[in-house]
Amino acid sequence: MRLVILEDYDLASEWAAKYIRNRIIQFKPSAERYFTLGLPTGSTPYGCYKKLIEYHKCGDISFKYVKTFNMDEYVGLPCQHPESYHSYMWNNFFKHIDIDPANAHILDGNAEDLEAECQAFEQKISEAGGIDLFVGGIGPDGHIAFNEPGSSLVSRTRVKTLAKDTIVANARFFGNDLSKVPTMALTVGVGTVMDAREVMILITGAHKAFALYKAIEEGVNHMWTVSAFQQHPRTIFVCDEDATLELRVKTIYLLTILWYSGRR
Ligand code: PGA
Repeated sequence: MRLVILEDYDLASEWAAKYIRNRIIQFKPSAERYFTLGLPTGSTPYGCYKKLIEYHKCGDISFKYVKTFNMDEYVGLPCQHPESYHSYMWNNFFKHIDIDPANAHILDGNAEDLEAECQAFEQKISEAGGIDLFVGGIGPDGHIAFNEPGSSLVSRTRVKTLAKDTIVANARFFGNDLSKVPTMALTVGVGTVMDAREVMILITGAHKAFALYKAIEEGVNHMWTVSAFQQHPRTIFVCDEDATLELRVKTIYLLTILWYSGRR
């Protein structure tokens, strides 16, 4: 497990975007060998997507031979709704890059048979050869994707009811009207993300500091589902300084790579 601490949100986003860019370039994807990327939504990855778009626009990186799988999607929200994760991904990332839309996979929260949709998603991941790099964000309650506190740490893609805390946190995207926030979602499981060859988790802001502490300083615990990644052989937590406020100095010495601008 690696902990990368950057001064602020912008530098953390840039570091994450460079890491993704470099991984894809090193992989040398081709028509015979696609790079497979797991992706999150939310306010945290927004800056990272912005940077990736910049790298694409200046010719540094192509997504032509990249397949993506998104972590989750609300149930019952039309795809065209501005707050659907389909809209988020297309508006904030996919429409600005050269990915083939057929290779950008997002769960369909309006599928007639939601269980079958979840199973088909797992099947598509496995047909793509598994995920090379899964990028994730977490909630202040330590959830990864929509694996809320108490979720099984070996769970697979499935239908989940959202925790009250998550509904309240997401109300900001729905005019602060709790009644407009969907209460169910389709989400990859903790086990689905654990199967990725590499995992990068972005954590920024003081409101995530307790979750980061639970994620890395305490034991694996299904009440803080992100803590499961302590047992993944290749996990990087990328944070800003605010997110580290609850960590012990000793933890930072043990796990950190300091990456302040100009120093490396
Ligand atoms: P956020 O959401 O990036 O908007 O904080 C993350 C999450 O709840 O998983």
